[in-house]
Amino acid sequence: MSAGFACARCGGDGPRLTRAPFGGALGREILDRVCSSCWSEWQRAEVMVINELRLNFMDPSAQEELATHMRQFLALDGGPEAPR
Ligand SMILES: [Zn+2]
Repeated sequence: MSAGFACARCGGDGPRLTRAPFGGALGREILDRVCSSCWSEWQRAEVMVINELRLNFMDPSAQEELATHMRQFLALDGGPEAPR
């Protein structure tokens, strides 16, 4: 467990993911800022978001929309109630 880690969503200090869940800057951000249990919660929520919004991944904007929901769920931008 590394010193100074606090999960963006639950504020806990781990356990952390062992590797980035996907490539790119967003994957690294999740690795750095989200604990593994919050990530598992998102993976369950993700299925519901995809079904609810009927996201079609042939459409590139669907990926973007899902990423927005993920950032909100994981509170990567300070949470849904963060002041602008
Ligand atoms: Zn967490």
